[in-house]
Amino acid sequence: MAVNAGFIYILTHPSDQYLIKVGMTTRSPKVRLKEHNTQFDKAAGEVVEATGQEWVLKEYFEVKDTYNAESAFFQRSPLTEIPGALGNELLKLDDKYITWEWVKEGLDAAKTIGIRKDTSQPPTPKPKPKKGAQWIEAQLEGTGLKPINGCGNGITKVAFECQKGHIFKISGRLLVNRPFCPACNPEKFDAYTLRRVEFC
Ligand SMILES: [Zn+2]
Repeated sequence: MAVNAGFIYILTHPSDQYLIKVGMTTRSPKVRLKEHNTQFDKAAGEVVEATGQEWVLKEYFEVKDTYNAESAFFQRSPLTEIPGALGNELLKLDDKYITWEWVKEGLDAAKTIGIRKDTSQPPTPKPKPKKGAQWIEAQLEGTGLKPINGCGNGITKVAFECQKGHIFKISGRLLVNRPFCPACNPEKFDAYTLRRVEFC
């Protein structure tokens, strides 16, 4: 992969102080900003369409090797460890892991990393957004079901709680397709699935 100079930019959104986007471009950040504000089929554009408010270019700076800088920013904990931490290409700040401090550290790394040593090799790409916990939680919004932490010792299935307080373990993706509590609405599930649900 060729070494291309470019920019790293940070966008903030007026609708949500915790929502940011960190991106890289080999073109102009302002041109890229315009795309983010008008491509409604992309994650950033969906926010614009939903809120009627545009992303704001908070900061940008030049880098010598755009892809290497991108890798330096994104190939970090917790993005590399939590599937779906990158959600849908946007970053949601929190008070624990994805803090402004964490963003600043990443930007410093991106600023200072320079050109990758072996330019015949592409840098490690950023972690792929996966349909992970954040996605599941977002999909379940408004259904009365919510993921909860801790329930027994299984790690393969996430636990959920319904509005009546039933706590159960089920595949998150399955629940997104059938957003019902298996205790309140067992008729919504097939017998095989019901047998595999664990109640806590
Ligand atoms: Zn229930």
